[in-house]
Amino acid sequence: MNFLKKESIIYKTAEEIEIMREAAQIVSRTLGKVAEEIKEGVTPKYLDEMAEAYIRSQNALPGFKGLYDCPSTLLISVNDQVVHGLPTERPFESGDIVSVDCGSYFEGFYGDHAYTFEVGEVDPEVKRLLEVTRECLNIGIEQTRVGNRIGDIGYHIQRHAESNGFSVVRDLVGHGLGRKLHEEPQVPNYGRRGQGKKIQEGLVIAIEPMINMGTEKVRTAKDQWTILTEDGMPSAHFEHNVAVVNGVPEVLSTFDYVEQALAAKK
Ligand code: MG
Ligand code: MG
Repeated sequence: MNFLKKESIIYKTAEEIEIMREAAQIVSRTLGKVAEEIKEGVTPKYLDEMAEAYIRSQNALPGFKGLYDCPSTLLISVNDQVVHGLPTERPFESGDIVSVDCGSYFEGFYGDHAYTFEVGEVDPEVKRLLEVTRECLNIGIEQTRVGNRIGDIGYHIQRHAESNGFSVVRDLVGHGLGRKLHEEPQVPNYGRRGQGKKIQEGLVIAIEPMINMGTEKVRTAKDQWTILTEDGMPSAHFEHNVAVVNGVPEVLSTFDYVEQALAAKK
């Protein structure tokens, strides 16, 4: 799915970045609530309703719901579902990995990020897929600085994923973020060093590696939304919102709420 039309990059002012930080933090806190609740027997639909109520309580709106006819606040993708899973009534089971992607709309700007959760006992190789995907995200963030180009982000993400024996989804990419959920530039999780647009002050992007255990190939489910791996193997997805401030990456979102909630459950 490609939502992007050819437009130019809209760089953000310091004031706009502060609003975007709050939009991102609303999502971060929502994912923290998801972390508190997610376990065996809980349904995606329940998490979705909880997330919508929380976002509205923060004087924000769900960022995805209604956009491109999206019916939900969260996109919840289990196991071989890569992204864009629609919340169902099917309870989570032990061993599932669950990507929860959440958007907010606050004072005219979007927040958009994602975390892949473990439910119960997860296979060690699947755990390694999650770890490597998260490392890919951090490596991509590190490359988001003045002096680099967009291709440097994807090059380093791809190198890390493939050197660990995993594959990078090609059909879906990260993106610019701002007054629209999907702005220029596209931010692929693969690419060539030194290629693509120069990274400049005020750039705000969503970096979101989607890393597969097996083939990189994906397909769209019958619901016309859910993206699945072609071979049925698991896929992981982590996303952050990153601004370029004083030439270096500043992460506007945080997984701190998620980590605190997960640590408290142990
Ligand atoms: Mg997202
Ligand atoms: Mg995104």
